[in-house]
Amino acid sequence: GDINGNIVLQKDEREGWGEDVDPVNLAEQSLLNKLIRRTLVRSRTEVEVLQRDPSSPLFSVKTFEELRLKPELLRGVYSMGFNRPSRIQESALPMMLAQPPQNLIAQAQSGTGKTAAFSLAMLSHVNPTNKWTQCLCVAPTYELAVQIGQVIEQMGKFCVDVKVAYAVRGNRMERGVPVKEQIVIGTPGTLLDWCSKYKHIDPKKVSMFVLDEADVMIAIQGHRDQSFRIYRLLSKDCQMLLFSATFEESVWKFAEKVIPNANIIKLKREEETLDNIRQFYVICKSKEDKFMALCNLYGTLTIAQAMIFCHTRKMARWLAAQLTQDGHQVALLSGEMTVEQRAHVIERFRNGREKVLVTTNVCSRGIDVEQVSLVVNFDLPVDMAGKADNDTYLHRIGRTGRFGRRGFAVNMVDSKCSMDIINQIEMHFNRKIPKLDPSNLVEME
Ligand code: ADP
Repeated sequence: GDINGNIVLQKDEREGWGEDVDPVNLAEQSLLNKLIRRTLVRSRTEVEVLQRDPSSPLFSVKTFEELRLKPELLRGVYSMGFNRPSRIQESALPMMLAQPPQNLIAQAQSGTGKTAAFSLAMLSHVNPTNKWTQCLCVAPTYELAVQIGQVIEQMGKFCVDVKVAYAVRGNRMERGVPVKEQIVIGTPGTLLDWCSKYKHIDPKKVSMFVLDEADVMIAIQGHRDQSFRIYRLLSKDCQMLLFSATFEESVWKFAEKVIPNANIIKLKREEETLDNIRQFYVICKSKEDKFMALCNLYGTLTIAQAMIFCHTRKMARWLAAQLTQDGHQVALLSGEMTVEQRAHVIERFRNGREKVLVTTNVCSRGIDVEQVSLVVNFDLPVDMAGKADNDTYLHRIGRTGRFGRRGFAVNMVDSKCSMDIINQIEMHFNRKIPKLDPSNLVEME
């Protein structure tokens, strides 16, 4: 399956791929996105409203004032540097804040302002004088729950009577003791325990339920079932809000089961294209040969920054060592690193501290480094069946409309098999990938 353009690998399939190959973990990828995100992903497309509750507000807002928020909340929003609602917020906020409450299913890629939107909705929704839990928010992992909590605490910093608690593993309280915090964020298992086994939360008093990262959640079987069990404990008129970066069949099925008659809004993602990219392949016999070809490219081209993709961690380490020996400043990214370490490496690379980033599959997304002018597939992207992985190819090489800059992509071909893959990629994108002729390198620029 392909969620958010990432490859979802089941555990046993992963083993089939070999330990050394980095699988893409959805929840980690999502956390990484949050850690390295600094600004809103702007979208030029309009929000699509797919299904509307007949009584839902027809309008969208262009300013935060129009929402008539509590002054202390509005102050919190502005203190975060938000001047106006993002695209998705323009439509989502009036629906989420409407009276009577409206259910909402919203899909937009990461970075478009979903978390900020439901954080605002929860802060606006709670009655601070009531010292019990009124809003529940479910997230796939501890780290993601903490990220959401930080947004709420920052946005709500002037709402002094509104408090947040975390229902995450290890956060223990005495059985039967009710939680006083109005907003509780947690992972499905612990949140379910808090609502049923430990009776910290009376689910019937919860009037807003937020399910974030529904796609990630649903991909994890246990999480899906537990989320559903929490949902069944809630009262019938609890307001339901579901957010997802992608919307494939499994997400739809779940969403429609838990939230019939919801407002559904979607924001199309900006498509990646190969339009501004000049693609080539070079024939190499061995990894040493590939390394030589890389050095030749460097000798000829003026390269701002380069990203180099390898299939295995071992290969990535080897190449990084070679490049370092050759005098390059190299950043290395691979799956055995923690998400925080990865975020740190990406941050340094984005700031231009290193000019070359060698990586396995772990991070082909999330790094929209404008100054990357060369992408090298040291190893070509293949799926588990050994076929061309076109989606990964596009994510590595492609740019969205936001990045108009030209770039080069060089594919290293070391066997008949990898030549086949180049041919498959050519066919898929209907675009010729010519052989790189070193004598043409100069005129390429
Ligand atoms: P998502 O949940 O869709 O991934 P976030 O809510 O985390 O998106 O927002 C992405 C980034 O944009 C964050 O850094 C957030 O602080 C910022 N952001 C969110 N809404 C706005 C806004 N209205 N104006 C400016 N920045 C915003």
